[in-house]
Amino acid sequence: MRSWSNHVFTFKRNGYNTQELGSKSNGYRQGNNLTVYSTPTPYREGKNMDEKTISVPMEADENGLFGRECPSCGMYFKIKPVTDLTTTQGICPYCGYTDILGDFLTQDRRAYLESVAVRQVLGPMFRDLADDLNRMGTPSSGFIQLKISATVPDFPIQYYQEKILETDVTCDTCGSVFAIYGVFSNCPICGKLNARVIYDKSLDASHGKLALSGDDTIAEHVRADLIKDALIGTVSAFDALGKALRKKHIVIPADPNNLFQNLLKLDQVLATLTGKHISQYLTPADSDFLFLMFQVRRIYEHNAGVVDSDFVKKQPAYAYLLGRKYPLKKDDVSTFIVLMRQLGDAIYSEFEK
Ligand SMILES: [Zn+2]
Ligand SMILES: [Zn+2]
Repeated sequence: MRSWSNHVFTFKRNGYNTQELGSKSNGYRQGNNLTVYSTPTPYREGKNMDEKTISVPMEADENGLFGRECPSCGMYFKIKPVTDLTTTQGICPYCGYTDILGDFLTQDRRAYLESVAVRQVLGPMFRDLADDLNRMGTPSSGFIQLKISATVPDFPIQYYQEKILETDVTCDTCGSVFAIYGVFSNCPICGKLNARVIYDKSLDASHGKLALSGDDTIAEHVRADLIKDALIGTVSAFDALGKALRKKHIVIPADPNNLFQNLLKLDQVLATLTGKHISQYLTPADSDFLFLMFQVRRIYEHNAGVVDSDFVKKQPAYAYLLGRKYPLKKDDVSTFIVLMRQLGDAIYSEFEK
């Protein structure tokens, strides 16, 4: 009869295991190898150390992403690495902690692996024990209790489900697909900030609003609002891009808080840090146009689009419009979005090299 009650089971994960299956639609599979040691207690060197390795594939969510958890900050994210099937290094998208990807195992996944191991190792041992006991025939009184408990217990698998996250991103540097809480983070594979991807998406949304403003089945005041929203949304997206860059690159000053809404101040900061003015990232004429549109944005955001003295101070050519509503044109906002995309991309590339 096997003695099972005085064994200690230890589970050793053999790390991240990636194997290419070729014909699978997602092109690869991931999983974990677990080695389960059954060690008699008290443990004696060279004695009865059973070893069994189990491979447990990982199941992706409905979009092909796998849940991961940072061993340092404990935050959850999901990932589908697509460019490099042998990727072994992971970077926490939230805190930047870097380690082998296999160590970014979620608690749920760990519990699942252990339950699979227990079921595969303990299950057969209990069945052997039950067989042994049943073969013993009429037990002596001392074994009655054991016989009762010799029904093979069920070792339930601790199934898990990947969580639903807030932002899906495809990295524009390495092509990895990942999902995170919040909006801004680093790519878990190449470490690049995702802020440019998010920025591009926001500008696409602004473009979408402009396109919608041309739909003459929509009431005219709503269409005018859509043009205004596209302008304001573009500047907000640029501000968010700037805040994400500042958080990662502390060389960009934290003051003033709305640096990326203040083009004049931003121009000075860029000149100091990179030696280039906005007029050098674009053309001087395009740069002048952006400075004008930032003022237009400000009065549309805070003054119902009415030109005020501050506007005239910065754009003296528009003195004749003082106290009147600035005529916001769809084509101007369209050009503005194109130029802002160029500027955002140039600034991102300066810091995320
Ligand atoms: Zn972390
Ligand atoms: Zn990447």
